[in-house]
Amino acid sequence: MVFLESVFGFFSHDMGIDLGTCNTLVYVRGEGIVLCEPSVVAVSQKDRRVLLKGQAVGERAKRMVGRTPGNFSAIRPIKDGVIADFEITEAMLKYFVGKVHNFSNWAKPRVVIAVPSGITEVEKRAVKESAINAKARKVWIISEPMAAAVGIGLPIDEPIGNMLVDIGGGTTEVAVISMMGMVHSKSIRTAGDEMDEAIMNYLRRQYNFIVGETTAERIKIAIGSAYPLEQETTIEVMGRDQVKGLPRSITVRSEEIREALKEPLDQIIGAVVETLENTPPELAGDIYTNGISMAGGGALLRGIDKLIQKETRGIPVHIADDPLKAVARGTGLFIEGIEDFEEFLEGGDEES
Ligand code: ADP
Ligand code: MG
Repeated sequence: MVFLESVFGFFSHDMGIDLGTCNTLVYVRGEGIVLCEPSVVAVSQKDRRVLLKGQAVGERAKRMVGRTPGNFSAIRPIKDGVIADFEITEAMLKYFVGKVHNFSNWAKPRVVIAVPSGITEVEKRAVKESAINAKARKVWIISEPMAAAVGIGLPIDEPIGNMLVDIGGGTTEVAVISMMGMVHSKSIRTAGDEMDEAIMNYLRRQYNFIVGETTAERIKIAIGSAYPLEQETTIEVMGRDQVKGLPRSITVRSEEIREALKEPLDQIIGAVVETLENTPPELAGDIYTNGISMAGGGALLRGIDKLIQKETRGIPVHIADDPLKAVARGTGLFIEGIEDFEEFLEGGDEES
């Protein structure tokens, strides 16, 4: 049996893909999550061609952000939860799929792809086509919140209201799911990237101090918080003095960074509260009892659970184990049981 499964796995290599604005994760059927890389591609400025035949994708490309010479740049093709550049998205998908799939196999993979709930039909079709061009045999599309809910193990097939908040890089997705369906969902373009930007703006306003996105993100991860910390901390950062134009370093406090993050966090809270208000009372009652589940990298911001609990007047908040992988785990569960789940998924488009 184990032998048969491994033979099957070897020949098919079906996969689940979390095509995130910050990170792309690939789950291979029978194996688990085998790839996790930044959704970044280095392209030439002149003709927007992907550099070095796909070598500059993912981890290597991310290291180039803010460090490229003028003739090429490292870009994120799905930055704001919309596909900003179809061709580059396709090149990225091809590169990642090629990295985990051995195309000397005769069977092309079947693929379940999670996409932000806010993307349009045109964009969904483009994602499917990209996957087919990346040599997929059959493609299904699933919304990120649904995949995250499955990945966390919420009882979404029961007549119970489940609320999921996924704070990614480009978008925050808030969804209420019951009986395998999305009762209500809201996608806003305020998430991790906006937090980084808020930190950059704060430092410029407060200290005439300029840092790049990479440094801002590093500050957020090191000392960022959404709620007062038991032990407030500081970090020393290098940047550029806006007035003198020279490099210098400053020490920033966690209280200041929390202040800087207030605006994007208010917007995220607003989306959660609005979704609760639009949820039918029976399901809202379930959420008050069972709580809100959180996924995505933003769920790792210190105290985000406490802030949401306070602002929703006491709804318990649960942060998923390894929240950055929740969506990928969900796509993985769908692909593992694809024969049973097929009817619930959108798509099933085949190569023509
Ligand atoms: P996406 O699904 O859009 O690709 P992810 O779920 O991978 O996004 O999350 C990426 C975001 O999470 C980034 O903005 C990143 O800065 C943020 N992030 C990662 N780790 C942390 C952390 N420890 N604290 C706060 N934010 C974090
Ligand atoms: Mg995501």
